[in-house]
Amino acid sequence: MRSKHSALLPGTGISSLIVLAAMFSVITGCASPQAPPQKGLESMTVEELAGMPKIDAHAHIMEFGDSGEADFIALLKKHNMKWLDICTIGTEWQKLRDQVSLALRFHGRYPDRLAWATSFNLENWGDPEWESSALREIGDGFDRGAVAVKVWKEIGMVLRDPDSGFVMIDDPRFGPVLDFIESRGKTLVAHIGEPRNCWLPLDSMTTEGDRSYYRDFPQYHGYLLPEIPGYWEQVDSRDRMLAGHPGLRVVGCHLGSLEFDVDLLAGRLDKYPNFAVDLAGRVCHFQVQDREKVRSFIIGYQDRLLYGTDNLIGETTGSLQGQLDRMDRVYRLDYSYFATDDELEVPEVREGFQVRGLALPAAVLRKIYYENALRWYPGI
Ligand SMILES: [Zn+2]
Repeated sequence: MRSKHSALLPGTGISSLIVLAAMFSVITGCASPQAPPQKGLESMTVEELAGMPKIDAHAHIMEFGDSGEADFIALLKKHNMKWLDICTIGTEWQKLRDQVSLALRFHGRYPDRLAWATSFNLENWGDPEWESSALREIGDGFDRGAVAVKVWKEIGMVLRDPDSGFVMIDDPRFGPVLDFIESRGKTLVAHIGEPRNCWLPLDSMTTEGDRSYYRDFPQYHGYLLPEIPGYWEQVDSRDRMLAGHPGLRVVGCHLGSLEFDVDLLAGRLDKYPNFAVDLAGRVCHFQVQDREKVRSFIIGYQDRLLYGTDNLIGETTGSLQGQLDRMDRVYRLDYSYFATDDELEVPEVREGFQVRGLALPAAVLRKIYYENALRWYPGI
């Protein structure tokens, strides 16, 4: 074949042979002789990731007016995203009930775009009927389609017994609630503790996102509140709860509050096989750690990580359109970070901060963006 085509070209050097080989490929339709990518290890483009079905496994509709519903659903469709809308804050019972109403409204109208997680009252903590009311509220939620139950950082940081200390998540009074969730085959979504930055002064925090949050919400800034149990007391109580309920499926929010060190998180995932974590609001904490170490961690624990954002609708500040624009930006930046090895600017860490994307294999992206949520939240 080569001699036949060589007559078409001058010269006989290496470059001519390369051109001839290319021509051979074009004429015969043969690909160059290299091994095909191993199944699952091929990469995925940003467009492919944007187009495939995905679940944002940690998001909130806190408030929603009468207008804008179509715009919100259009954004989810544009990203082919389904939300797990997590209702939360048991110490603000009326607000929690309002969130449940909104979750039911959206889940009822758009079941393919919105699943939901319920929670329970903590305002009546200490009352004799607390346990029975909590079990009833959770059961009602399951009957109306909730796939999980949320516990929030108020346990450990806000909730107190009248004459003693803070109530921690491993308190035996939560036992019947956790047993009930397990008996119904549902999942506990546990935001317990805070990022380690919470217990540092503002100027020592590793990300701008944390710095601005604790500047805005000093009532949760552990560094300023020495009476609140410390970082490790929060993590340890969560770990004791996991050890005490090995049959309960638990998704730890925000990288399980071990966001600052993938080795520590890996240790917990090894120790507690029924424990997974979502990435909500903590991708920037991956980005300040060593790239290769983070990439190896994600590939190693690819069955235990769920994509999530903590995207929120209903903050009193900002228009709905502004919130939708922010979501769009978050989703796009995350696609680039996880799917490509592009250099990306991450102002969430600090102005001008750059990070190289992880270029994760397609099979891993499918798991963390979709398949893991189906397994860790059955019925989602
Ligand atoms: Zn959240």
